[in-house]
Amino acid sequence: MTAELHVLHTGYVGAEDESGMRVGSTVVYVAQGDAHVIVDPGLVASTSAILDPLRGLGVDPEQITDVVFSHQHIDHTLNAALFPAARYHDFAAVYQGDLWRDDDAEGRRLADDVSLIRTPGHTNEDISTVVRTADGLVVCTHAWWFEGGPEEDPYAPSQDLLREARERILGLEPTLVIPGHGAAFAP
Ligand SMILES: [Zn+2]
Ligand SMILES: [Zn+2]
Repeated sequence: MTAELHVLHTGYVGAEDESGMRVGSTVVYVAQGDAHVIVDPGLVASTSAILDPLRGLGVDPEQITDVVFSHQHIDHTLNAALFPAARYHDFAAVYQGDLWRDDDAEGRRLADDVSLIRTPGHTNEDISTVVRTADGLVVCTHAWWFEGGPEEDPYAPSQDLLREARERILGLEPTLVIPGHGAAFAP
């Protein structure tokens, strides 16, 4: 049995006006065996936008074992505390309760078919979640905000680094890429 993956919330970046800007994180749930993983529990209009679809799959927030941060911008981390039993993963460490364990995320395995790779690009701290599903390989990543790019990422420390990240991900020949602020797309 490969892993199963569900997009709980499709992210977006709205236009800016006097009151600010609407930003939503793409939030993903991945399950395999005992592992119940949430990727990027960031900005959503209401926490029900994460919890309702999760409960719809028969999963309570207390059952989540792992939370992955694609990087440390607040739009992908704000709702991390919804999952009280989880370990929290970023590029350099695993956190749980008051425990901080340094561990390079490259190759970190969360389940047989769920692992993390370092993909510095959008920031120097970016990681991508690589999931083998029955429908092929799926990569959750902020190397793209949405299907169209942006071609140049204004946050990227260098566009060359971003290009390398995208090439590495495409080199895995994923069936689907799930970007930080948009719907899944076939590359
Ligand atoms: Zn970001
Ligand atoms: Zn973002």
